[in-house]
Amino acid sequence: MCNVIDVAQCRADFPILEQTVHGVPLVYLDNGATTQLPRQVLEAMTAHYTQYNANVHRGIHTLSERATAHLEEARETVRVFLNASGLEEIIFTQGTTDSINTVARGIAPMLQAGDEIVVTQLEHHANFLPWQQLCLERSAVLRVAPQQNGALDVAAFRALLGPRTRLAAVTQVSNVTGAVHPIGALASFVHSVGGLLLVDGAQAVRHESTDVQAMDCDFYCFSGHKMLAPSGIGVLYGKRECLASLIPARYGGGMVDIAGEQSSTFSPLPHRLEAGTGSYAQAIGLGAAIRYLNAVGREGIAQWEHTLLDETARQLEMLAGVTLLGSPAHRAGCLSFRVDGVHPYDLASLLDKQGVAVRSGNHCAQPLLASFGLEVVTRVSPAFYNTRAEIDALCSGIRRATEILWRWSGR
Ligand code: PLP
Repeated sequence: MCNVIDVAQCRADFPILEQTVHGVPLVYLDNGATTQLPRQVLEAMTAHYTQYNANVHRGIHTLSERATAHLEEARETVRVFLNASGLEEIIFTQGTTDSINTVARGIAPMLQAGDEIVVTQLEHHANFLPWQQLCLERSAVLRVAPQQNGALDVAAFRALLGPRTRLAAVTQVSNVTGAVHPIGALASFVHSVGGLLLVDGAQAVRHESTDVQAMDCDFYCFSGHKMLAPSGIGVLYGKRECLASLIPARYGGGMVDIAGEQSSTFSPLPHRLEAGTGSYAQAIGLGAAIRYLNAVGREGIAQWEHTLLDETARQLEMLAGVTLLGSPAHRAGCLSFRVDGVHPYDLASLLDKQGVAVRSGNHCAQPLLASFGLEVVTRVSPAFYNTRAEIDALCSGIRRATEILWRWSGR
């Protein structure tokens, strides 16, 4: 039994939600794209900039040492959040895209012609294009596991694995259908053929398990801006030996041990993969965001977000002309739908006029939408600071928008 969260109290922590747009209260349901920041995270960032802003790991002066201590405290907070076994397994990056590219670039020199990388149709472009381009560059083979009803066809995924599989890259939660994938099982399939599993946790971190040891994944990637932290910060987790085998994607300051004119030696992990000045203030914000999520209660957050998503699905299914995309057995974080005779951009635009923010587009998941024979859909992604009343506002907004658009088109 988990603690039920106090939604009104949570909302009070998010000043941005108090505004009106087009004269009506804002209903922010685009959390899959980015979440809002609570006061506690903004205060941690303000404290950084007003009290101890200095470059980290470089200066022997008080401000630099304080900033470094706060950054490393944030790394420890992330380590505990992921249940990683060591701090050297936590690399700060700019976000999920950067984390995935770091791995793709890092394994590139080891990939032989004919080696295989397995992805799925459900991937965001961030977990698709780096592998596609890597395969083209190395004459490797990209295998794409199909979706079934908006979730991964696990049997088909397993059938694509073989002795040449070097790595499989899978999303934990689809950013379009919200399908939740059985990462532990996928890891055991991939490991049984000697491959590595990279998990894109971008849509999962706010509400699903992030225990990397329980999942037994080799790499885990996420972005701060989808879990109450600022933009420009993300994490690449990797098992120690997996990170150690990566060739650095970037060279420069902070990652070198001895730089000689013709050759150099490099720092140990995690710094070896963190060249240049990183987003340390944002990393401190990420630490504060994780502490905030823990204080509210991650199980309570997951439970409320599931309740809101179920309620959204229930109400949408009753609306004339609305079809949900896929019917995954386990859904979290978001769902997408289309409305007969209504273009998703028109719908999003009319919803905006009613104060409701949703996302219409291809959701950077063109292979998935193509598998449904579609180009664009509308996505709703509630967070724990949303209310039932906001879901009601969304659904009556869709009804109103649909009536207007159908009338205009003479339906
Ligand atoms: N993966 C998934 C599943 C996503 O939803 C997103 C962003 O929407 C990304 C990767 C890319 O994240 P970022 O743009 O923060 O790198």
